[in-house]
Amino acid sequence: MGKPKVATVWLEGCSGCHMSFLDLDEGLLDILNSVVLTTTPITDFKDFDFEEVDLGIVEGAIGNTEQEEIVKELRQKCKILMAWGDCAVFGGINVLRNWIPKEEVLRRGFLETESTVDGVIPDDEELPALLDKVLPVNAVVPVDAYVPGCPPSPEAIAFALKEILEGRIPILPADMIHFD
Ligand code: SF4
Repeated sequence: MGKPKVATVWLEGCSGCHMSFLDLDEGLLDILNSVVLTTTPITDFKDFDFEEVDLGIVEGAIGNTEQEEIVKELRQKCKILMAWGDCAVFGGINVLRNWIPKEEVLRRGFLETESTVDGVIPDDEELPALLDKVLPVNAVVPVDAYVPGCPPSPEAIAFALKEILEGRIPILPADMIHFD
């Protein structure tokens, strides 16, 4: 049997969860020797036509139609889906906009900021549309494993990956669970 295939996506988030993964430093070598990374922002891969993978990993919440499509596609193509970080697990800081009507968010962002001159709200049909609310991943597709934290520690990420690669759904030890 070949090495397990893993795809990761960076949706509505800051990339801090992927950076925390990279912070494993030399510990990364063991993980990267055990898996094949397919689609992932780590390789600057931008084609989301996923191949079938054993593990899909999501960083970030779901705030627009493109992110919604990507996570649904990944869910279809992976056996296990893991949410990395508070944005993916709970929506994270992104949900601050959920108390403001979408139209107001767009107006403020594209027309009213102090630095805006002749602003226009983009409405090209090729552009992803904002969802009414930002959603955690499990509000859009089923999630099998969660690693909360902002970002999760490298140790928590490594633990969760190791557990999944050994055939177990990870249950993080208490000292690896944090929400900040
Ligand atoms: S959970 Fe924190 S570190 Fe991860 S993407 Fe969200 S804001 Fe960034």
